[in-house]
Amino acid sequence: MKPKSKILIVAGSDSSGGAGIQADIKTITSLGGYAMTAITAITSQNSTGVKSIVPISPKEISKQIEFTSQDIKPNTIKIGMLGSAKVIEAVLKSLKKIKIKKIILDPVMVAKDGTKLINHKAIEILKKKLIKKATLITPNIPEAEILTNIKIKKHKDMIYAANILLKLGAKNVLIKGGHLPYKIMKDVFVNKKEIAIFKNNKILTRHTHGTGCTLSSAIATYYSCGKTLKKSCDMAIKYVNHAIVTRPKYGKGYGPINHLNTIIVSKKFR
Ligand code: PLP
Repeated sequence: MKPKSKILIVAGSDSSGGAGIQADIKTITSLGGYAMTAITAITSQNSTGVKSIVPISPKEISKQIEFTSQDIKPNTIKIGMLGSAKVIEAVLKSLKKIKIKKIILDPVMVAKDGTKLINHKAIEILKKKLIKKATLITPNIPEAEILTNIKIKKHKDMIYAANILLKLGAKNVLIKGGHLPYKIMKDVFVNKKEIAIFKNNKILTRHTHGTGCTLSSAIATYYSCGKTLKKSCDMAIKYVNHAIVTRPKYGKGYGPINHLNTIIVSKKFR
């Protein structure tokens, strides 16, 4: 990967290291990119659940985005947990100022234990304003259902939902099929010109904490290096799959995946 790939992550911190900013930094770094951060919230959690969430003020989030970008201009922005309408408004203003075109939006809504990571008003603004600014939006099935108000039971419903998101103003949509109860997992990529379906065998494990964060960060890294969005999604899905296969089996609950699966430690340090 080209070291030119500089990614600014706008997301929440996950103290357990499996999701959020921590997953994003590990992913971008292991794929050879340079990660910068604007932290939106601090969560205290472990693999069994979320204990608390402390939001960072919208002003401080904007400062992190703008001041950081003034000096080291990112090629791509990856957006994860935002939490509130005020934070989304602040992020929108900052994005307008820094003028970065490549934006990967993971519309984070709930943690694996069911804790809400965004409020209702924020979902409305995300739908009305933020979706339009993103190059790609990467909802999972529950997130796509909330954004489109439809039930997704089959793969064809995923394509239907993706088309609703395009009508809402999304430029490219990747709906992740992992929540459907099929042995073959299908992730659906749709824009106005093309549909691509990425098929993989489903790996049955509870250790999937942070898969969404990891996937969107991997897409952002490949995309910032000049790969097409479709190719970036394809490569990022393979990367996450391998990270699940090689999961470290940490924690009593929904444990982390192996973000560092591309790193081969040189013999000298082993
Ligand atoms: N962002 C933060 C800060 C989180 O704590 C979580 C989940 O706990 C997520 C995002 C979403 O994680 P996932 O990638 O598993 O959807």
